[in-house]
Amino acid sequence: MAGRTRSAATIAIRATKNTTSPTLSTSVSGSGGSGGAMARTLARSQPRRRLTWPEAAPPVGLHLGVALGLMRAARRSRQIGARALQIFSDNPTAWRRRPEPPPNAPEFIAYCAREGIETIAIHASYLINLAGSSEPFASQSRAGLTYEMERAPAYGASLVNTHIGSHRGVGADVGLRRIVESVRSVLEASPVSVRLVLENSAGGGDQLGSRIEELAAILDGVGGVAGSDRLAFCLDTAHLWGAGYDISSEEGAVAVVDRFDALIGLDRLALIHLNDSRSALASRMDRHEHVGAGQIGPVGLGALLRDARLAQTTFVMETPGADEGWDAVNLRRAYLLWSGAPELPTLPPKAFHTNRRSTRMGPPPAR
Ligand SMILES: [Zn+2]
Ligand SMILES: [Zn+2]
Repeated sequence: MAGRTRSAATIAIRATKNTTSPTLSTSVSGSGGSGGAMARTLARSQPRRRLTWPEAAPPVGLHLGVALGLMRAARRSRQIGARALQIFSDNPTAWRRRPEPPPNAPEFIAYCAREGIETIAIHASYLINLAGSSEPFASQSRAGLTYEMERAPAYGASLVNTHIGSHRGVGADVGLRRIVESVRSVLEASPVSVRLVLENSAGGGDQLGSRIEELAAILDGVGGVAGSDRLAFCLDTAHLWGAGYDISSEEGAVAVVDRFDALIGLDRLALIHLNDSRSALASRMDRHEHVGAGQIGPVGLGALLRDARLAQTTFVMETPGADEGWDAVNLRRAYLLWSGAPELPTLPPKAFHTNRRSTRMGPPPAR
């Protein structure tokens, strides 16, 4: 419900004269929700103009649905000016995987290469739990993730992002050992062109990997086995926030990057999921919000986008209503933050009544 009360909030960053650090002011101008849940929630379908990013900018894009086809997601990415694209290879809440990639996958790969969509990432099934030990789910998790890795080149994907999983009450130590075994077996059995990307969690429900120290422990445990150079990580900003990392300020955001660099090394930070959050700091909750319009706000997210150390990291937004036109809106907001714009446009109330199904929320409970 916290999201409702913020639905009419106006957020502006005002650059104070004679200083380079912007200050943030937030004012709530109404109770929100007056448009009603039945109001049209579509953003304008055509972006005002396609964004063009300078060479120095990191690749930024969105997770887009492929229910209407791979080419639709690729063309939409090009239309709005995205330079990265994350997709599901199949239903994210099922084990079953299509036996063959879609027949137009080669066309998709060629199109993305030609149109400057530099990074294609696959988000693996939400059912995967690398920490689980109960069968048949433990074997299914390894086999399922290996399959996503094997299939990735057919989609032109260089990254396969997966949730780490939950120890389900057996304890973090046992869970971490299971994760290390699972990661080793997946790396050993997967193509050399694909990086395995482990996504940090918000820490709810016995989830592992909510602390950077835990991610580092997984890396240490995996050691120097074949393929270990392809092990990488994703920091989801909404998950960081839920786990208690206060990245709402520039100092807080930079501190997280510093910590990751010290314990793991930024060459292994392959992805940032650039999501704002509807949930409270340290709530262990995972509810995504439009960039700069949630509890994290624009300052910390902008600091990550502008951090020159992350120029090789791909930024993917998993923000609400991506299939309803809000993809273009969020990409533009990220562009504004990257370019240091002094303020973000206020979102209309309808922006907070998007189709829940097109909001990338947290996964269902892991087995
Ligand atoms: Zn995820
Ligand atoms: Zn994510």
